Amino acid sequence: MSSTDATINGGISFWYAQVGLPAPREPLSGDASADVVIVGGGYTGLWTAYYLKKAAPSLRITVLEQKFCGYGASGRNGGWLYNGVAGRDRYAKLHGHEAAVRLQQAMNDTVDEVVRVAGEEGVDADIHRGGVLEVAYTPAQLARLKAFHEHELSYGEDERELYGARETAERIRVADAVGSTWTPHGARLNPVKLVTGLAAVVESLGVTVHESTPVTEIRPRAAVTPYGTVRAPYILRCTEGFTANLSGQKRTWLPMNSSMIATEPLTPAQWESIGWEGRETLGDMAHAYMYAQRTADDRIALGGRGVPYRFGSRTDNDGRTQASTIEALHEILVRFFPSLAGVRVAHAWSGVLGVPRDWCATVTLDRATGLGWAGGYVGSGVATTNLAARTLRDLVQRDSGQAGDTELTSLPWVNHRVRKWEPEPFRWLGVHGMYATYRTADRRELELRSVGSSRLARVADRVAGRH
Ligand SMILES: Cc1cc2nc3c(=O)[nH]c(=O)nc-3n(C[C@H](O)[C@H](O)[C@H](O)COP(=O)(O)OP(=O)(O)OC[C@H]3O[C@@H](n4cnc5c(N)ncnc54)[C@H](O)[C@@H]3O)c2cc1C
Repeated sequence: MSSTDATINGGISFWYAQVGLPAPREPLSGDASADVVIVGGGYTGLWTAYYLKKAAPSLRITVLEQKFCGYGASGRNGGWLYNGVAGRDRYAKLHGHEAAVRLQQAMNDTVDEVVRVAGEEGVDADIHRGGVLEVAYTPAQLARLKAFHEHELSYGEDERELYGARETAERIRVADAVGSTWTPHGARLNPVKLVTGLAAVVESLGVTVHESTPVTEIRPRAAVTPYGTVRAPYILRCTEGFTANLSGQKRTWLPMNSSMIATEPLTPAQWESIGWEGRETLGDMAHAYMYAQRTADDRIALGGRGVPYRFGSRTDNDGRTQASTIEALHEILVRFFPSLAGVRVAHAWSGVLGVPRDWCATVTLDRATGLGWAGGYVGSGVATTNLAARTLRDLVQRDSGQAGDTELTSLPWVNHRVRKWEPEPFRWLGVHGMYATYRTADRRELELRSVGSSRLARVADRVAGRH
């Protein structure tokens, strides 16, 4: 029997298999009104509800969620709470280096903020602050790692450290690792415990949460569902990878898949051979990169790209994952830790993230219509959603005359606009071409042991609009 023969596939995610699906909340039952409507019950929507309600307890806030809170990426991710934000370098080009440093600083603080609020509100999300360790295992990856390290330092990350092969192995013994970079601005967490805890906190504060209530259309001051329309001066779209399903939003953010596996719990002897006592979140410098964590119950949860994108922006089937993707992720696990070749993969699942045409996350409130949105986080949303939510709060408060400009409303990602994705088949061809090229570039770098990054990957970046 192979390591993946008895793998549970889908069922939303491994994190739900552990704790069970939450008890359903009542759907909307007819027309209603509110001061703020939030569409989508993931981290973005729930953090936004949380901060708005804390700032103005009398505000009537309604969250409308198509399935259940945490159904999307917020209930399926790798649990890297870290300080990365999609688009920072482009924002530096558009608004200057200093503006991008402020964004980075805000992200560093956001990691602390999530840990702080989770503690204060009694949300036990298995948070462990071990920082983020990213390793290189080819000469080309090492060159990229060093450049990446220097680049991050230029954004004021003074505490970041660069390690050689020996120091890397002292933390985690990744096969053939030649170096790594570590930042303290990161923590491992259990994504589902965070999102379900947050939903409960928000509800206890007096926010109305309707589940099994899909919004079919968002209009100025109205969110339309099959069960009624909720009217409010502000309608905030927090639908990330599912945005394409909304009327008029097909080409706004491309729904990109990310897939994960979780092993069975490892034995103390297996952990002995790997190290990883610091429980850092672990990543690499491959073009088609991987990300992993040591879970609270001593498994490895590891993710990467599977089938990156489905034709016509189709989104989800409750996390079911192709056998070839499961095999590919298992290969990465064994590539990293050859001694785990026989370890069983307990669970595999997938989710969708939102990718804007220029790969830049944004927070926007349109003053004329009262329509707001936040997202396009690509693969970095566990912390970013919290910063986005506090920013949405400030934008709503400023617009309604409750507050003025704040540090957050002046960040460079606020009210950033970008063109839509190309129509099909160009969307599908572009994204599949990009990831096929990344995989080829990674293979070549591994085989040739070349020092420079493959030129192929740079071409793919340019075609995709990443740089
Ligand atoms: C497999 C995977 C691994 C990841 N790993 C990491 C990681 O380790 N670290 C990191 O920083 N980021 C990671 N991410 C990204 C991160 O999870 C997301 O950026 C973040 O969860 C986005 O939160 P959100 O609330 O904006 O979106 P979501 O969590 O997707 O929430 C959107 C919600 O809106 C609901 N919805 C959608 N459309 C409608 C509608 N029409 N009507 C009503 N409700 C609707 C959905 O059901 C969903 O609950 C990962 C993502 C995936 C998929």
